[in-house]
Amino acid sequence: MSEVSLKAILALDEKTRRRKPAGHNLSAEKAAERAAQLRNKGVSVSVLDQPSRHKGHGYKNCKSCQSAAENLSQEPSQDPARETTENVPQ
Ligand SMILES: [Zn+2]
Repeated sequence: MSEVSLKAILALDEKTRRRKPAGHNLSAEKAAERAAQLRNKGVSVSVLDQPSRHKGHGYKNCKSCQSAAENLSQEPSQDPARETTENVPQ
């Protein structure tokens, strides 16, 4: 296999508002396919470009995927910490 661009998929967990790995080391085609499947189920997904192939066997325990998920979860548009603050009774 030549150097192809690899994709990782992160799915948004509606309950925790956090992203979790849903796939990695995927070709663009495979990634689009899986993302479409998840979106059909109503899951919000992000497809990321991987700078390099991830070493872990399974994406569920993949450190690269988890740190990517954390970075995305810190985006200001979806701030879970703010919700908690607003819910505190005055
Ligand atoms: Zn990974």
